[in-house]
Amino acid sequence: MSEHKPYSFFQSVERSFDKAAKFTNWEKGLLEQIKACNSIYSMRFPVKMDDGRIEVIEAYRVQHSQHKSPCKGGIRFSEEVNQDEVMALASLMTYKCAIVNVPFGGGKGGIKINPRSHSTYELEKITRRYTAELVKKNFIGPGIDVPAPDYGTGEREMAWIVDTYASLKPGEIDAAGCVTGKPVTQGGVRGRKEATGLGVFFGIREVCNMPDVMQKLGLTVGVVGKTVVVQGLGNVGYHSAKFFREAGSKVVAIAEYEGAIFNAAGLNEEEVFQHRKKTGSILNFPGATNLAKSTDALELECDILIPAALENVINGENAPRVKAKIIGEAANGPLTPEADEIFSAKGILVVPDMYLNAGGVTVSYFEWLKNLSHVRYGRMEKRFTENMNNHILGQIEELTGKKVTDSERTFILHGPEEVDLVHSGLEETMITATREIMEIWKNNPDIPDMRTAAYVCAINKVGTSYAELGIFP
Ligand code: GLU
Repeated sequence: MSEHKPYSFFQSVERSFDKAAKFTNWEKGLLEQIKACNSIYSMRFPVKMDDGRIEVIEAYRVQHSQHKSPCKGGIRFSEEVNQDEVMALASLMTYKCAIVNVPFGGGKGGIKINPRSHSTYELEKITRRYTAELVKKNFIGPGIDVPAPDYGTGEREMAWIVDTYASLKPGEIDAAGCVTGKPVTQGGVRGRKEATGLGVFFGIREVCNMPDVMQKLGLTVGVVGKTVVVQGLGNVGYHSAKFFREAGSKVVAIAEYEGAIFNAAGLNEEEVFQHRKKTGSILNFPGATNLAKSTDALELECDILIPAALENVINGENAPRVKAKIIGEAANGPLTPEADEIFSAKGILVVPDMYLNAGGVTVSYFEWLKNLSHVRYGRMEKRFTENMNNHILGQIEELTGKKVTDSERTFILHGPEEVDLVHSGLEETMITATREIMEIWKNNPDIPDMRTAAYVCAINKVGTSYAELGIFP
């Protein structure tokens, strides 16, 4: 918990929820049910470390809501993990899934460790034991609760989880769907790795394409030429930076633990990543200026600020100094409610986490569907589409007597690969969600900010789902 916060992360999610609930018509009891965390599994288990010591590991899995099954949400490895944090993150998952129409309840897991102070072998033992504990309590399974990567975890950990699960459940035909974010060779889907960053890009691009919104912010329409600051060069930050740069924006600063770097001419995230890998630090990148204090990057002059690291990094203390016009919450909960109020008063647009970073879970949904259907996307239609396109193009050329260029031919003939379908499914999802939230906001001028509009959207969808379920006697 940050020093400036009089309440916990979960309480701050509750506050945002309550603020939005006033703009809905659901009865009090139903709102209480939507807000509550349904199941909380707090566990301790011993793991023998490489030096022979036994360490007691503290870990959690929270299922916030089962209004839709399975529950869904990542597992984080961090020293900051605590029950309150996992509860808050699990709640955000429920709302996030509802907004992007992903038919899951919210869940989240956490293991209180610093992954950098453990060997790969120790991490594998911790992950496998954690999975076994989840299996024992029926807290994991393709129809129960499906974890995924989060802060401090990635494909490698997901591979350990699916392997542990499958060996404890022999013969379970859908075992691969017990976790998402797996390597492609282990049942993963192409496009999952970059999904959250790409979703962040699609979401902000859609906002930037809205002339009325840009006019209010005093910005031009579109992302071309916009200056961007990214905090965090992990999977989400890296890919957000990549897609903005590729679309013609300028990533002028990147921040990490050890400090931040600035270059008005723009940075290339891959070169920065390689530099950090080689030297162990983001600092002293050729052509860039060092900012010794990492958080100073949050206060730089820019059009778009993307906090893509941890929660509470922008709070009542530093928010008044933030100069960005748009803040895209790629991380979960990077702003405290005080920061929200400051930005809302200043007319800074905060594009909220629970829908903006939904790209990860959206593509996780695609991965889960792939696992249940046991077939790769595009396998059935790729060749058919190519043959058909070839035929259509041939007819057009014959009828017109003209030929298209070779590069046009390649483009037109191309049948969809898995990654094409995943990216377009994600693009459609993010555009639709952005428009839906903006519509709610426009239709109710009393709604103070986009986060509240997103919560209203989520509450209405989860509320409808609960109301339709009725109450089990
Ligand atoms: N950890 C990601 C999130 O917070 C992804 C969750 C998932 O794919 O289930 O949204």
